Amino acid sequence: TRLAAYRGRFAPSPTGPLHLGSLVAALGSHVMARQAGGSWVVRIEDVDRLREVPGAAAGQLAALSAFGFHPDGDVLVQSRRDARYAQVLEQLLTQGRAFVCHCSRADLAIDGGRHLGACRARSVRADPAVRLRVPPGTTIGFDDGIRGPQVQAVDTEVGDFVLRRADGFWAYQLAVVVDDHDQGITDVVRGADLLDSTARQILLQRALGLHTPRYAHLPLLVDATGAKLSKSTGATAVDPRDPLPALARAWHVLGQSPLVADTPAEFLAAAAECFDITRVPKHDMVIDALHNTAV
Ligand code: GLU
Repeated sequence: TRLAAYRGRFAPSPTGPLHLGSLVAALGSHVMARQAGGSWVVRIEDVDRLREVPGAAAGQLAALSAFGFHPDGDVLVQSRRDARYAQVLEQLLTQGRAFVCHCSRADLAIDGGRHLGACRARSVRADPAVRLRVPPGTTIGFDDGIRGPQVQAVDTEVGDFVLRRADGFWAYQLAVVVDDHDQGITDVVRGADLLDSTARQILLQRALGLHTPRYAHLPLLVDATGAKLSKSTGATAVDPRDPLPALARAWHVLGQSPLVADTPAEFLAAAAECFDITRVPKHDMVIDALHNTAV
């Protein structure tokens, strides 16, 4: 397959309204795609049906539009892609790269919840999970576009990780790798809460013989105690009816100097002109929950 020069994406999970953290990811990924003269697509990551909030996906798509973001091409919806994920899982099982695992959380507690090579299951489960085999000595390195060189010993730090959960849902790691490939993504720009998942995704790409995109991780929003800001607290709510102040806040989180614009479209055009990746903070950003501003 021929890859475009630059194709970015924004991949929200429909667990609530669009919030400041997701607006930062949307803005960062969009601005970098536009600056590179590339395209930008959207994907709804709704594999975890237990965390899904009815109507949230539609709300997020409407909010994106109000903030001036318009995807190039159809929105991909993960819940419609069971057949594709099943085909990929079958391939990994056939190749011996994945295995059926009956271990429960309790079985793995002794290894800190990690599955390190051998199954410890004490009983057979009706609905076992499927895991990727991570051979001893598996270390993955990559050069993050914002945070620089990263390395993770996936064998010891993560272990054999889940591709299809015991509850039958597809694991995020599997769906994201298949979809980034199928959508022709060259550049993954997203929140730093996923920095730790990147080595797993690269390992999975290699197991499947897929191209590895470039990665860049944006500042994670945290409260004064350093905890990730939850979507449910309302601390990071953004109002799509008043898009410019929220865009300005997200722009500030990205470390950029203030912009003057009268409409979201103008804002995004100006942002693509003057975005400077070297100014993006390489650390978490503390957000004042009361005043809803970056401090
Ligand atoms: N769906 C994930 C989230 O909303 C993002 C996944 C990604 O960008 O790879 O946190």
